[in-house]
Amino acid sequence: MTDAATARPSPQLSLRGITKRFDGKTVLGDIDLDIHDGEFITLLGPSGCGKTTLLRMLAGFETPDEGSIRLDGQDIVALAPNQRPLNTVFQNYALFPHMTVFQNVAYGLRMEKCPAGDIRTRVEQMLAMVQLSDFAARKPHQLSGGQQQRVAIARAVIKRPRVLLLDEPLSALDFKLRKTMQLELKRIQRELGITFVFVTHDQEEALSMSDRVVVLNQGHIEQLGTPREVYERPASLFVAHFVGEANLLPGEITGVAEDGRVQVNVMGQRMLLRRPFFPPQAGQKVKILLRPEDMRLGTAEESGFPGRVLERSYKGSTLDAVVRLDAGPDILASEFFDEDYPDFDHRRGEPVTVTWVPSWEWLLPDADAPV
Ligand code: ATP
Repeated sequence: MTDAATARPSPQLSLRGITKRFDGKTVLGDIDLDIHDGEFITLLGPSGCGKTTLLRMLAGFETPDEGSIRLDGQDIVALAPNQRPLNTVFQNYALFPHMTVFQNVAYGLRMEKCPAGDIRTRVEQMLAMVQLSDFAARKPHQLSGGQQQRVAIARAVIKRPRVLLLDEPLSALDFKLRKTMQLELKRIQRELGITFVFVTHDQEEALSMSDRVVVLNQGHIEQLGTPREVYERPASLFVAHFVGEANLLPGEITGVAEDGRVQVNVMGQRMLLRRPFFPPQAGQKVKILLRPEDMRLGTAEESGFPGRVLERSYKGSTLDAVVRLDAGPDILASEFFDEDYPDFDHRRGEPVTVTWVPSWEWLLPDADAPV
């Protein structure tokens, strides 16, 4: 289906004005969101921001107080969970402990009274896809956490739901397995071509898996964008802080150049920085966002912002340093072991200067500054 006005495919899921209150308190306010067919979309935000509540409304376990949820144009708010062509994978897997892997995966088709031959074929296909063909006869307690998670996914997708909802499905797994399962989930989603709506509070997980990320804060959408957009061009200080490590240097706009770049006084130094996404005004306080990998450390004699190394830590692929700037906040610099930067071994207490890769900065209005 396409939207005649824009010639873009019309969204598969369309949320309009979704509001949810518990005990008179608004936990989600006026949420508008379009999700497209086959997208991997992640709801990301801190604990309590409303991610799970939003997912549960899509699933039908909660009803919005206001607003509509359309799936392929049809309002599904009044439909019970089992009437919706959606399925959910929960954090705790919720497998049937007394059933084998095969029986767990077959369960949905059995309930529909599918012929036994069809069930066998489809379960075998599913187990092959999640790479558990050799585990069909095992019970859940005989499987690792990652294997149990894959059974839960196979069981949830065997009836080919239009959308799969996943509520922190990897949070019980250890770090290494989590990384493996992130790749697995991406592969499964690609192979199935099903829309995934994924909930997590882990920003790295959101960035590495999603086509688009919905950053939620206290019941509203702070930003909706690709992983690259929310990381490199955050819409607010909240997103800058929540998604990745953020160095925020204080500055004040002093003027606007003809090419749209802005003159900024950054901790006493006059700089010409790239055009911001908001209309700049002389006198406006701003924060200059720089990610740790944008920072460069030089010797005390080089130009830049002077400071002193507070801490340094070896991270394998990078060497990280916390630098206390003489005229500003502590910043984190991650230097890659790169032949361009041979002088990475700064000692604690050493005076250094801090610069960044030109034009990698991102200006944000300073939310704390008086308007
Ligand atoms: P977490 O990452 O901790 O799971 P979340 O972002 O998923 O958090 P929700 O579980 O959606 O957040 O909760 C949002 C807010 O709604 C919280 O303040 C929570 O206490 C509240 N809430 C959720 N469910 C209920 C309920 N059934 N009754 C009352 N309040 C609720």
